[in-house]
Order: sequence, then C-alpha cells, then structure tokens
Amino acid sequence: SERPYIVGNWKMHGTRAMLAEARAIDRAAERLIKVEVALAPPFTLIHACRKEATLIGIGAQDVHPADGGAHTGDVSAAMAKDAGAGFAIVGHSERRADHKESNALVKQKAEAAIEAGMNVIVCVGETEDQRDEGKAEDVVARQLAGSVPTGEELAEKITVAYEPVWAIGTGRTPTVDDIGTMHRHIRGKLVDMFGEAGEAMRILYGGSVKPDNAAELLAADEVGGALVGGASLTAESFLGIIVAAA
Ligand code: 13P
Repeated sequence: SERPYIVGNWKMHGTRAMLAEARAIDRAAERLIKVEVALAPPFTLIHACRKEATLIGIGAQDVHPADGGAHTGDVSAAMAKDAGAGFAIVGHSERRADHKESNALVKQKAEAAIEAGMNVIVCVGETEDQRDEGKAEDVVARQLAGSVPTGEELAEKITVAYEPVWAIGTGRTPTVDDIGTMHRHIRGKLVDMFGEAGEAMRILYGGSVKPDNAAELLAADEVGGALVGGASLTAESFLGIIVAAA
C-alpha cells in the first residue's frame, strides 16, 4: 500500500477509560482516508477497542510462539486474533530487553502470528552504544536476518519498524539523513531476502515521533509510516501525527 501507515503502540498503558481515545481516533480516521491508521492496545483492551473502532486496525503488542499449552500468563496468536487483533507487533526493543527475547524467538513469534492469519510488525533498532561504535547497520542487518520470517509469499504480511532504542521515549531522534540511510539499508536487506516483493514492504520509523516532528521524519527516504508510543496515548496528539502524514 502506498498510504502512510501510522501505528500507535500503547505499551503498558490503558484501562477502559481510554476507549474514548480509540473511538475519537477512529471517528477522525474516517476523514483521513489517505492514511492507514492502527492501534496496538494492551491485550486487555483488544476486544473492546475492536468493538469501539470500526475503521482503524487493531493489533497486539506481542504473541507467544506456541499455539497453546502450559504457558501461564501468555497469549497465543490465535487468542489475540480471536479477541480482534489483525496484526501483532513482535520484537519490540522493550520485549527484547525486559524478556530477553532473541532474534530466533522473535522470528517464531512472527511465524506464529502469520500462521494465525495476522500481519506482523517486526521491530529492529540499535542501542546508543552500538551506534556510537559504528555498528548500527550491522546490528540491524543481524536482527533482520534473524527475526524476519522468509518466503516471498510472506512479504505482504510483514512490516518492519526501525526503532533506534536511544530514540524511544527520550525526545531524541536521528537526523532525517540518518533515518534515510538506515531505511535504505533495511530496504536493501529486504530485497536480498524477499526479491522484488521486498521493494513494496513497508518500513516504519519509531522513536519520539510527535505531532511537530512527524512531517519531517515521515519525509525521510524509504519511510512508509511511523510506530508511535507516547504520542499515541491521546487522540489529540495521535491525530496530530496522522494529519501530518496525510
Ligand atoms: P515513543 O514514541 O514513546 O518514543 O515510543 C516509540 C515506540 O517504542 C513505539 O513502539
């Protein structure tokens, strides 16, 4: 799709009181058809968000790789899908850090989500130390090779989100040039992995995207949209980003 894809990741925020934000975002999206909008609320709100919102995509922030079984506290892809999730975010840096998720596990999660009939957003991105050491492109290449499922027929189901860890929740962002350089690098890897189908895969930027920097960041080379954390928590700020993308 040529439309910019703007995805809100609510992380561990949101009780039912926040359904009003989802509803307001959905109502506004009706007038902003140039943008594809989605929200990934916590598992507890997926079903209610799906009922509340009729136009925007609703997704999960994670899934377990197994179909089911003795995994207390976990949620399978089929369960998330049944609750109303059309896509799953996998490999977010917070999960890679908090839960020691490896590339191999992230890939299994992505495969499980696709198997369940969902699309996936696979997150990659370097830490500040890795960037300072000049290793950002190598780290991202390794993450792509290790955590993105392969197979040309899967390309249309997969979106990659580039989220430099040091830009998440910090108010700091790479320069537009640096984003373009990394996104071109990712595009090259996706074409290596998926052939021609890799040309059409969406690559999102994430990390401190706000209403006032969204237009500039979204104009960077090979940026097909944004994965938004903090600024997706209110309809007002999230709509500011969506309007900037339109
Ligand atoms: P912030 O927009 O709060 O920096 O978070 C980005 C992010 O991690 C989205 O997944």
